Amino acid sequence: MGMMTCERLFEIFDAHADKDVLEWVGHCHDCRTPVTIRAIPQTDGVHIEGGGVYEPEPDRFYLKCDACFHKDPSLKNYQPCEVYSRVVGYLRPVAQWNDAKQEEFRDRKVFDSSLR
Ligand SMILES: [Zn+2]
Repeated sequence: MGMMTCERLFEIFDAHADKDVLEWVGHCHDCRTPVTIRAIPQTDGVHIEGGGVYEPEPDRFYLKCDACFHKDPSLKNYQPCEVYSRVVGYLRPVAQWNDAKQEEFRDRKVFDSSLR
């Protein structure tokens, strides 16, 4: 239970085969701040930006904002009946970004589920 694995993220990407970015929109589980989290598959792993994504039950996603995620990356006291987020996807070809944006993209840290 907890952070999604890269394998599960790629499964979700497969289910949204026409998308190259997945986006979860909802509220932080801990502080209730509105949060948007994106997952972008790269050759070196899935890059996550905006906080943390959890899937304690199949297809039920819980989010944490960056601040709460860094304070405590584990998901505690989740309410099974509440669904905080939805997953959507969209296309955003990296090649069309400007140089600064691509630089930032390359600098993003890699999500590594083995650390959890
Ligand atoms: Zn928060």
